[in-house]
Amino acid sequence: MESVETVINGSVWTINLLTYRQWKKKRLPQKTWGLCNRSSKTITIRIDLSKQSFLDTLLHELIHAQNELLFEAEETVTRMGTDIAKALLATERVFVVTAK
Ligand SMILES: [Zn+2]
Repeated sequence: MESVETVINGSVWTINLLTYRQWKKKRLPQKTWGLCNRSSKTITIRIDLSKQSFLDTLLHELIHAQNELLFEAEETVTRMGTDIAKALLATERVFVVTAK
């Protein structure tokens, strides 16, 4: 499993990048591509996704992590992640590497 650390809103967070196999082994929810845990400051993301889905999911979880007011605002966060991912990919200046 690949992991990276990053600072979000002044705290160090770990982003774990998992294949579907690693995801299943950890018994994470089957119908989810990403998770955000505010108490352990961990984001977990599947990498066996399309570039659009990976970027969308990563942005979604980063937005949850970045702002506690948005932690429960699922609809807004979903829209933000999708719109920003589409815009970034449309510029053709952002490159996404997935395991797909
Ligand atoms: Zn969410």
